[in-house]
Amino acid sequence: MRSFIEEIQAIVGPAGLITSPNEVAPYATDWRRRYLGKPAAVVRPASTAEVARVVRACADSRTAIVPQGGNTGLCGAATPDASGTQIILNLSRMNRIREVDARNNTMTAEAGCVLATLHKAAEERGRLFPLSLAAEGSCEIGGNLSTNAGGTAVLRYGNARELVLGLEVVLASGEVWEGLRGLRKDNTGYDLKQLFIGAEGTLGVITAAVLKLFPLPKSRATAVVALQSPEKALALLDRALEGCGERLTGFELFSDFCLALVLRHFRDTAAPFPRRFPHYVLMELSDTQSGGGVRALAESVLEAALEEKSILDAAVAHSETQARALWKLREFISEAQAQEGPNIKHDVSIPISRIADFISATDQELARAHAGVRMVTFGHVGDGNLHYNVSINRLVHDSVARFGGSISAEHGLGQLKRAEIQRYKSALELELMRKLKRALDPHGIMNPGKVL
Ligand SMILES: Cc1cc2nc3c(=O)[nH]c(=O)nc-3n(C[C@H](O)[C@H](O)[C@H](O)COP(=O)(O)OP(=O)(O)OC[C@H]3O[C@@H](n4cnc5c(N)ncnc54)[C@H](O)[C@@H]3O)c2cc1C
Repeated sequence: MRSFIEEIQAIVGPAGLITSPNEVAPYATDWRRRYLGKPAAVVRPASTAEVARVVRACADSRTAIVPQGGNTGLCGAATPDASGTQIILNLSRMNRIREVDARNNTMTAEAGCVLATLHKAAEERGRLFPLSLAAEGSCEIGGNLSTNAGGTAVLRYGNARELVLGLEVVLASGEVWEGLRGLRKDNTGYDLKQLFIGAEGTLGVITAAVLKLFPLPKSRATAVVALQSPEKALALLDRALEGCGERLTGFELFSDFCLALVLRHFRDTAAPFPRRFPHYVLMELSDTQSGGGVRALAESVLEAALEEKSILDAAVAHSETQARALWKLREFISEAQAQEGPNIKHDVSIPISRIADFISATDQELARAHAGVRMVTFGHVGDGNLHYNVSINRLVHDSVARFGGSISAEHGLGQLKRAEIQRYKSALELELMRKLKRALDPHGIMNPGKVL
């Protein structure tokens, strides 16, 4: 191992190699501190050429590689095992934005660019990069693509997968696939980039991507709505989509229990209404037209819903500061939960039309099976994604399968759900995945023990 580490150091230099246990520690555990690994080293290359040389050295010595970005993933997918033989390949030093082509509405960014810096770079050129999630100050685009991240704007702009036109990937052999095309039409065979998106680092290392940009919205309206039940939230979603079309960019549901957690753990937050209600929706509209049009539209949709008594109360933010304060109530839920104590996360998706029935059926089953269980239900309900967080796995996942859903909507499988997925995917689908893995990573050095 010593001569291997020396070989790696010769490639990345002293700035690109961490071996002292104290410095390695933060890289060797995950955001939730659920997994603790013991890497042989943390390698931090500064260029695609360095990544390629490191991967080739690993392929020659059959050393396993665990790619890592901002290390905010929630499934232990960026944490090595405890053998002391795997290396963490951290991409954070590869953080250059290579190009913003405003006219082509694209941006070419290296894997280690922090998501929030991409938002800023796009904005400076009057464009929007719409991928948005609570971890955006630390997660990196390579990690976002490798987990096919979702977030709060999927309803309007789609998952990470839908925001990519091209990729540069270092393959498990150390060869570089240069697929950085900025084309919206390219039907020249298999769409190879899609293999690496959502692969959680098991097929290759993403080093750069061509990302889609959109016109920058000039006005926004953010509203919080009080409701009796998730069923009513879905009725409101229908109404909002009908009335606002593409202007509806966010539609997030959370229960009063989630609100209580946030208020308890974050002092600078406040309840949105003088009294409490069972559920809330955070709704956001945006438009490329400036002025108050989008706000008037939000108000008219909500007034109609209030008159019909399908919602219980609503408030539209009057300023950017108020809008930020409302978003905090939703964005802080994960962290509030982490501070509250251990919990089991269920990041599931259900066809939107069946979400309300799923929640009601599964809540009842859980209450019957485990009296006193506490449900922390919230999610990007506008795209069918619920974070249904309780302390019993099997019951929830079986119910998800019965409702035609997925046991991992956006966080991935990692090591957390690697065994569990065997129960829900067909043998044929799993074998197809294994065949792809064998074709692209014949020696099994790319993030072994994750996904498959
Ligand atoms: C508070 C909070 C809120 C969150 N909200 C959301 C949300 O709304 N939606 C959502 O989808 N996720 C969410 N997440 C999960 C997480 O932020 C995302 O999965 C994010 O995309 C991970 O990016 P990262 O850079 O931290 O990746 P990491 O955690 O470092 O890695 C994740 C996976 O990608 C692989 N990987 C990383 N970089 C590369 C690369 N360059 N090439 C190949 N493989 C690579 C790793 O091996 C691992 O398998 C949230 C997390 C937190 C802590």
